[in-house]
Amino acid sequence: MQITYRPYQLQLKHPFTISGFSRTATPILLLEIKYQNYTGYGEASMVPYLGESIETATVFLNKIDLSSFSFPFKMDEIIGYLDGIATGLPAIKAAIDIALHDIIGKITQQPCYKIYGASPALMPLTSYTLGIDEPEVMLQKANDALDLGFKILKIKLGSKNDKLLVNTVRSITNLPLYVDANQGWKTKEEGLKMVRWLASQGVVLVEQPMLKTDTDGNKFITQHSPIPIIADEAVQRLPDVAKAEGNYHGINIKLMKSGGMYEAHLMIQKARQLGLKVMIGCMSETSIATLAAAALAPLSDFVDLDGPFLTTNNPYQTPHFVNGKYILSDDAGLGTRAT
Ligand code: MG
Repeated sequence: MQITYRPYQLQLKHPFTISGFSRTATPILLLEIKYQNYTGYGEASMVPYLGESIETATVFLNKIDLSSFSFPFKMDEIIGYLDGIATGLPAIKAAIDIALHDIIGKITQQPCYKIYGASPALMPLTSYTLGIDEPEVMLQKANDALDLGFKILKIKLGSKNDKLLVNTVRSITNLPLYVDANQGWKTKEEGLKMVRWLASQGVVLVEQPMLKTDTDGNKFITQHSPIPIIADEAVQRLPDVAKAEGNYHGINIKLMKSGGMYEAHLMIQKARQLGLKVMIGCMSETSIATLAAAALAPLSDFVDLDGPFLTTNNPYQTPHFVNGKYILSDDAGLGTRAT
């Protein structure tokens, strides 16, 4: 197996602001694995606040040697091997995992969603995220989303203007809303009050109300909330799923946190065993990672895969999207197509 890669700056359509951070581009590493006559495509999206970079990815890639692995790939052994080389670094591990799944699909002549038994007919609607902004910019972004056909909008909150931002979006649409507080609310009482108000405004779920380390605060809001509370920052990989039980109603799984599709699927299964709801989310990503996540999305309750719609220089075609949801293609593997 031969790995090649190149850095890529993925430009964002709007400066992206969430509780605490703002940026205009995301460093991506585009990766290819060649195995026999097959090429698998993967990517690592390295949003700065999670600590990975082109440099950490390059150092990691220089340490690994996949030549002892052959098809049929034993993904558990490969993930174990990668974790043994270095802890953390889930995005670059995801890039390798995604490329290997692309190859598995191509060798077995099936789309990646079939590898995990996902049914395209069960694909949920995808939400479109509005980063924190001035009200007039929020309106413009919301209008963009409506023009693109999105049926659910997601609003980033956690600032002092929360109600103003929700009212602004509500002034032009009655669509269901998701809210992501990104750990921004400071006390559990305030958080719960806001969640109750949001529920009265047609918000159907809230992500990560309080600091990921404040288990009691998040648990208090979950126990009293009329709508699902979803862990995001608090849940990265498989061992974190069990920790969410009782403290949240569900978990947001992202390939760039889980280390790829194989572990994301294990996380979905674990969440189901524990009665947790499942959301599939993304970072700013090209179509490669979005297609990989979309292949698992029919196994989830909520889908937040808007990456390709929030960037301006995606090197791949936007996945087929109709009436607010992705239509999975029958192409073998991920089905990436260059623009
Ligand atoms: Mg989130």
